[in-house]
Amino acid sequence: MRPQEIIAKKRDGGELTAGEISAFVDGVCDKSWADYQISALVMAMFIRGLTDAERDKLVRSMLYSGEVLDFSDIDKPKADKHSTGGVGDKTSLIIAPLVAACGVAVPMISGRGLGHTGGTLDKLESIPGYNVDLSTDEFREIIKRCGFAMAGQTADIAPADKKLYALRDATATVPYIPLIVASIMSKKLAEGLDALVLDVKTGSGAFMQKLEDAEELARAMVSTGEKFGVKTQAVVSSMDQPLGKYVGNAVEVYECVKILRNEIEPAAMPTWELSLELSARMLVLTGIETDLEAAKAKCTAKLESGEALELFRRNIECQGGDPSVCDDPDKLLDHSIKKIDVLAETTGFVTAIDTLAIGNAICELGGGRVKAEDTVDHAVGFASDVKIGSEIKSGDPIGTVYCRNREQFESVQAKLRNSCVIAEHKPSETSLILEII
Ligand code: URA
Repeated sequence: MRPQEIIAKKRDGGELTAGEISAFVDGVCDKSWADYQISALVMAMFIRGLTDAERDKLVRSMLYSGEVLDFSDIDKPKADKHSTGGVGDKTSLIIAPLVAACGVAVPMISGRGLGHTGGTLDKLESIPGYNVDLSTDEFREIIKRCGFAMAGQTADIAPADKKLYALRDATATVPYIPLIVASIMSKKLAEGLDALVLDVKTGSGAFMQKLEDAEELARAMVSTGEKFGVKTQAVVSSMDQPLGKYVGNAVEVYECVKILRNEIEPAAMPTWELSLELSARMLVLTGIETDLEAAKAKCTAKLESGEALELFRRNIECQGGDPSVCDDPDKLLDHSIKKIDVLAETTGFVTAIDTLAIGNAICELGGGRVKAEDTVDHAVGFASDVKIGSEIKSGDPIGTVYCRNREQFESVQAKLRNSCVIAEHKPSETSLILEII
């Protein structure tokens, strides 16, 4: 089947067959389709739309374009969590050891930060020596030894997605829900899971800024997961402010280790609350617990007993990192870094936070990526105790910038100050967890 016939069919609004979709995905993988033909079809899909049936066929073809992991030799239920990305969103580092401590195997394949959002792999690499490039065999062995492993996508997992994502990024075709579903779910379904919990973010720092879009994405991913035999649930959570206290890489790992040590700073409480919600749902979906409250109690006990921290320590050892950061989280921080406060210029209540602006400020400091090949400065970041509803006086710190020098601070100071909208009246209470789908 010639590419131009398939492109023309979608251009004219036709519904593609399984054979046509798999010819397209095969063409992406074996390079028999040129980049301009792939881009043309993706744009036609974006404009003309995909039916649910076409979306499912695309997921299937992309999933089977590569290796589907089989962990049937691990005698435990397998579950993972996926977040659609946010600012200060660091729950993976808490969830993986916590859920593993409750008897679930967690094969966590994660990504790098792109744009204003951070990525788990970049965060993990701020632990000295930590290796996220694992072969499938190494990945399996580490799960057997400590209950979870965290690694990047190998070239063998959903290879079509890598190429398609790069072309979507370059052709303004990323924000289309069926394509996002196919991209995310083809990778997650390749992990050989029994259960998957999705954290779909919405708000000023999320890709899906509108709640209706986040709900639609959540519903589509849940229905796809279920069709492929994976028990799937989505939590729609707020990204109207950064999650927890710290945004960056090393500083976010610091926050997680402090939480795992049960030394939770008040501003880090939302990180723990969301981690607990997602972890407990993983236990219920895998059948480890039947009741959500009992699952939360179990997770809390594993935190308080230090078992989750112990598994994190063991995982760091297995993945080549320095486990002593678990005893002394200060070791994660680069002490040559300058910490400079951003001060408020108004008195009142914080009524909104431009979370996207905070994520972009971290990128400008070098803590994130503009292009996939950019390197990341793990030490820079931002710490803030200020949340929506906080009362603030002119001259009070809004937060602290972790930067290399004063010039860097100056370059982001106004953006960070203006990210906090301060007004006279206290806003109504906000919720972190908005909906369960
Ligand atoms: N994340 C992905 O992995 N794919 C998308 O299409 C969007 C976000």
